[in-house]
Amino acid sequence: MTDFTYSVDANGVATITWDVKDKSMNVMNLKGFEDLDALIDKAIADDKVKGVVITSGKKDFAGGMDLNIIAKMKASAGDNPAQGLMEGLMQSHSILRKIERAGMDPKTLKGGKPIAAALPGTALGIGYEIPLACHRIFAADNPKAKIGLPEIMVGIFPGMGGTTRLVRKMGAMAAAPYLLEGKLLDPQKAKGAGLIDEVVADPVAAAKDWVLSAKDADIVKPWDQKGYKMPGGAPYHPAGFMTYVGANAMVHGKTQGAFPAAKALLSAAYEGALVPFDTAIRIEARWFTNVLMNPSSSAMIRSLFINKEALEKGANRPDVPDQKVAKLGVLGAGMMGAGIAYVSANAGIKVVLIDAKQEAADKGKSYSEGILDKGMKRGKVTEEKKAEVLGRINATTDYAALDGCDLIVEAVFEDTGVKADVTAKAEAVIPETAVFATNTSTLPISDLAKASKRPGQFIGIHFFSPVDKMLLVEIIKGKETGDVAVAKALDFVRQIRKTPIVVNDARFFYANRCIIPYINEGLRMVAEGVQPALVENAAKLLGFPLGPLQLVDETSIDLGVKIAKATRAAMGDAYPDSAVDEVLFAMADKGRLGRKSAAGFYAYDEKGGRLGLWDELGAIWRVSEDQPELSQVQHRLMMAQVLEAVRALEEGVLEDIREGDVGAILGWGFAPWSGGPFSWLDILGAEKAVAICERLEKAHGPRFAAPKLLKDVAAKGQTFYGRFGATAKAA
Ligand code: NAD
Repeated sequence: MTDFTYSVDANGVATITWDVKDKSMNVMNLKGFEDLDALIDKAIADDKVKGVVITSGKKDFAGGMDLNIIAKMKASAGDNPAQGLMEGLMQSHSILRKIERAGMDPKTLKGGKPIAAALPGTALGIGYEIPLACHRIFAADNPKAKIGLPEIMVGIFPGMGGTTRLVRKMGAMAAAPYLLEGKLLDPQKAKGAGLIDEVVADPVAAAKDWVLSAKDADIVKPWDQKGYKMPGGAPYHPAGFMTYVGANAMVHGKTQGAFPAAKALLSAAYEGALVPFDTAIRIEARWFTNVLMNPSSSAMIRSLFINKEALEKGANRPDVPDQKVAKLGVLGAGMMGAGIAYVSANAGIKVVLIDAKQEAADKGKSYSEGILDKGMKRGKVTEEKKAEVLGRINATTDYAALDGCDLIVEAVFEDTGVKADVTAKAEAVIPETAVFATNTSTLPISDLAKASKRPGQFIGIHFFSPVDKMLLVEIIKGKETGDVAVAKALDFVRQIRKTPIVVNDARFFYANRCIIPYINEGLRMVAEGVQPALVENAAKLLGFPLGPLQLVDETSIDLGVKIAKATRAAMGDAYPDSAVDEVLFAMADKGRLGRKSAAGFYAYDEKGGRLGLWDELGAIWRVSEDQPELSQVQHRLMMAQVLEAVRALEEGVLEDIREGDVGAILGWGFAPWSGGPFSWLDILGAEKAVAICERLEKAHGPRFAAPKLLKDVAAKGQTFYGRFGATAKAA
């Protein structure tokens, strides 16, 4: 069975229909390319065929390349993988170029067969690169469809001609949002932007009509015509010059040079613009090979696509029946409770939102209203949708309203007593089968479960702030948490379309356990006299969205003080962070609590806009004359988090390194180019990591001692992904 079928109608129009069996969405693989190639040859060779329409047998056109295959391409490309990849890519290019040239005489540009793409719905990645090679693109008027090139989001770039063709079609400036940001458009907007040609009710019929009426001149691409000029100007044209200089600066400003794919994309676009089309394609293929050879691309694809999807589909879900949530109770309508109520109601779940006072409950509900109003202003939400979502939220103080809730998420104050009180009140009303979850960020789940009559149905569901934006949800199993509760939490997270990780109960669970040492390392360096700007920039150059000082400003310095005091109380003499507290407490004493007080490690204007680092910092913590090397600061910031991730695995808090990697990127923006802490260690090599730890331990203390597991992986010459196998399970 092939992925493409072929038929010719009475008018002589051949239709090539893409329909991958047993998949809801078409994706391209190597065999698919071969099949398509053979059918294009057949259509061009057949005198009875006047033109070709390429379409799909599904509701969408295609989701893109099969990324599982891209991830494996390097490994299967033989002894000289770069050469193997380059040859493979050029073969695929030749198929698309064949479509574009359509059998025409290369000199006279006559005699080719018109080939049109008819897109019933979504067309992404190669699913848009094939249409780009066709002579005209028709799309159904389907507002749910998305068209574009999202490759950059998973660490690659459009490398099947998409970069070269889009830049030549619309100019570098106009193409930039689609190539560099992976911006996707619905068909109407895609037509407005010039990505496609026509939006029609029946794209196949329209495409057939068009191929029958198209003339020779209609099927010659502008770049194959004499005197072609690139829209917006080529690089050495004054306007083009500005574009490329500007784009380079913009990309570097956004990525700090930490994302190889963005750099390679720019190089392919720039160098390609200086040469004829066929050479530009070779250049694109070369840069694409370069990106595929970079371990960052396979690590990003593995974490941000393959493993993220596996976790979302329930890779670690216990085998129990469907636990979808029908009625949710949210206790506490503060910042977190309000957000949880919104994302749940928005996903179609009925919500009872409880607070101690009616005003507070109403305020929590009005948070949803605010988000929906913003959505309406942007044309994304209709009046009906707003009414529907708000209609699902019952804001009340009455616990009796929790009757019939199958899941409770508690988000009241971070206080064991208050939490115990609301647990008892809710459990008095909810069905015996209901699951009770706490959103605590610091209190052990097993301790909070003591307040529950049913500790087997008690679990942690830890959201990140702001709830409607953050993609990760950490599910925490207490000592007695049973399988049904885990499945319930996972099914709930799936309903609200977020990504779950499942971890065991230990101080700060997983994400905060790693984030806190990152912040603390930054604060320690300030106390030691390292330039605060060096600390922040070192983090940004590693690809972190926020440096540690900005991060603590965002999460608030008084929260840091609270956590430090509680940790010290719990750990007693073993508490290792006095140097950190010195900095944190001094800032809190000055009332500099971070963004919320418009004063912290950074200065802020009256409107709360962040200015530069606070210039008094140097007066409080004298900046040393001898500053460390950038790489040393980076090693400290990186290892502070990564070693914690390894310890979490070693101690069984993490059970699956995939969760450790995906959770780190989605939870706190851990250097996405690396694929996560375990992928980073694999890229670096465990042996080298141990050597770095030894140096850091000598200079800065035992917190950098390499964990036993890391030493063992190094001693055995292993990698984390190699050792923990195909499923990446630690068990
Ligand atoms: P918040 O102070 O904004 O909200 C708490 C709400 O609970 C308030 O509206 C309060 O009136 C209500 N409340 C207190 N006692 C109550 C009671 N007995 N009955 C009913 N309602 C009661 O706090 P928050 O930031 O939303 O945090 C809530 C929980 O989520 C905490 O456990 C916190 O640790 C956790 N959490 C917070 C964050 C964060 O970034 N803020 C992130 C993850 C988890």
